[in-house]
Amino acid sequence: MNALVTGGTKGIGRSVCQHLLEEGYNVSFCSRNQTDIDQVSTLWKSRYPNQEILGVRCDVSEKKEIENFAERVLGEFREIDALVNNAGIFMPGEIIDEEDGRLEEMMKVNLFSAYYLTRKIIPAMIGKGSGHIFNICSVASMIAYPNGGSYSISKFALLGFSKVLREELKTKGIRVTSILPGATWSDSWKGVDLPNDRLCQPEDVASAIICALNMSPAAVLEELIIRPQLGDL
Ligand code: NAP
Repeated sequence: MNALVTGGTKGIGRSVCQHLLEEGYNVSFCSRNQTDIDQVSTLWKSRYPNQEILGVRCDVSEKKEIENFAERVLGEFREIDALVNNAGIFMPGEIIDEEDGRLEEMMKVNLFSAYYLTRKIIPAMIGKGSGHIFNICSVASMIAYPNGGSYSISKFALLGFSKVLREELKTKGIRVTSILPGATWSDSWKGVDLPNDRLCQPEDVASAIICALNMSPAAVLEELIIRPQLGDL
């Protein structure tokens, strides 16, 4: 079984890669930082010597880079069973006064990357009549909140993309799952002075993905909201 995860070196994406490896998947992943890619690749190759691990430097905000990444992964893995559109950036602000260009930047990373990559991966999934696509949305995909700004717009759009995809692929044996995490410990929360148990853990999201993957092909987990026990921040 083969998986592809965008943004696999940190936070939620890193935990998803680890859980997939633990389940026996061959894993391909990307990020923009070659040093991080090398570090996690070395670690995982020593832990999972019998599985294929392919880390590629790719900036998902660049269409050409995503397409090259997809071609490289398909060239080596031939087919993908699980695609996790995870890479995303969060820049707080308000529509009325956030920096010019914020919307474009977050739409590129948080939405267009998933659209471009999924379109490259889907034909092989359709060819074999199976596959599972996960889109890491956010609680910001369903509610507006202070300082959500363009981030929230991009995440509403990603949930829209995910719903449309689910509709298009339901008769083709391909499952589509939208995951909507609330605050989850990751680089985005570095330095925030809160008790560890106030936020979800990346592992909470990763284990939910494994659970969805392991359901029978007759069932799909369409949408999942994962919030801190004490609610949103
Ligand atoms: P994170 O800890 O900041 O990790 C993001 C990962 O994506 C890193 O591996 C990062 O590597 C990579 N990445 C970022 N921009 C990229 C780009 N342009 N091209 C390629 N890779 C890129 O983030 P996270 O908190 O785990 O978030 C993961 C996903 O969950 C995001 O879509 C986020 O919106 C969503 N989410 C997170 C939370 C939360 O509270 N953490 C809540 C709701 C939703 P490099 O920076 O080295 O490229």
